[in-house]
Amino acid sequence: MLKRFIGAGDAQKLLSAQNLELFLESVPDAMLIVDSGGQIAMTNGRVEELFGYSKSELVGSQVEMLMPAAHRKRHVGFRERYVEAPRARNMASNYELQGVRRSGEQFPVEISLSPVPVGSDILILSAIRDVTERLERERRARANEVELEKLVNVNRFLFSLSHELRTPLNAISGFAATLLMGLSGPLNDEQQDHLKTIEQSAEHLLALINQLLSLMQPEFNSENMIIEKIDGRDAASAVCKMMEREASAKGLSFKLDGPEKPIKLKSSHRMLTQILINLVGNAVKYTDRGDVTVRIRRCGRGDGAAVQFEVTDTGIGIPDEARERLFEMFYRANRDQEKEGTGIGLFISQQLAVRLGGRIEFSSAQGQGSKFTLSLPQKGV
Ligand code: ADP
Repeated sequence: MLKRFIGAGDAQKLLSAQNLELFLESVPDAMLIVDSGGQIAMTNGRVEELFGYSKSELVGSQVEMLMPAAHRKRHVGFRERYVEAPRARNMASNYELQGVRRSGEQFPVEISLSPVPVGSDILILSAIRDVTERLERERRARANEVELEKLVNVNRFLFSLSHELRTPLNAISGFAATLLMGLSGPLNDEQQDHLKTIEQSAEHLLALINQLLSLMQPEFNSENMIIEKIDGRDAASAVCKMMEREASAKGLSFKLDGPEKPIKLKSSHRMLTQILINLVGNAVKYTDRGDVTVRIRRCGRGDGAAVQFEVTDTGIGIPDEARERLFEMFYRANRDQEKEGTGIGLFISQQLAVRLGGRIEFSSAQGQGSKFTLSLPQKGV
């Protein structure tokens, strides 16, 4: 091809040693010219950068110096066979090829070989590429695929679990309710009591399943969460609106306290909303008199800048002995309380807060009320 454009004589001139060096320098890969005995005849600057040797150290040395000691002997055999039947090709890679830097560090390489006949001898031109990043990308892509596959399986499992469990549970509570209404004939007091227990237990189990399922939703998986710019004040006020009716039905005064201006943060809207629903929901549930206040504010500066959501109530409070265990799964303080619950809400909320780079803390005085504080990093908004 080259000859067609520039003529055979010019091609000879082009291949003078000096021009060949210029040519090698213009190639983006690390290039080596090795003679049939394995001695390095010429290199370019990329080889120096990649392997950490100077040109003067490389030229005249055996090419095997750039390979792991364990491969050197085998390579000599490969090289001899290649010289006997030379052709342009990638170096066989049924195993991962490795280069060795002067420091001894090994790294994966891809090598292509081209034979260049010179008189009766043969030179081998090889292009060497560091493929560390490419392999890492491929490894990550494979890992992502495996993760995705797992998520799909978990989703399928969750779907059938929810279906399989919810259907009979709905039937249990539905038929219990029908019996309680007396639709199948009159019941005595004891039968009514037993049926109420059946109905309540079924509803408790349903709530438990629903909450567990919500924790396992793929969008709550760290890798799937959508981090976006959100206004913390908007998120808090939307949750307060949701809870307002329940609070006023209990005669609680319900307040949202925050600045006029938006409080921006980079976080997951979905997760933040889920946490606030749990905290505000608890405040309303465990308070029979007084008020529930949701306060939002900014604190800290620079890298430590955070947004705090404080949910304060004047409810039953939390006993001291429950402090250590409050965020454990299924843990409920005040076990004798008559409030319905599963002991999962705070566990889920703390998990989500940690995934968002934050945490939930609380302070409480039994009989006087509690304050739960969610702190989330603001993250460069
Ligand atoms: P649940 O409310 O379903 O029992 P949570 O995980 O949300 O589960 O809460 C765990 C326990 O923490 C509750 O059972 C309750 O004893 C206590 N708790 C949570 N929030 C409050 C609150 N605002 N006031 C008093 N106790 C609370």
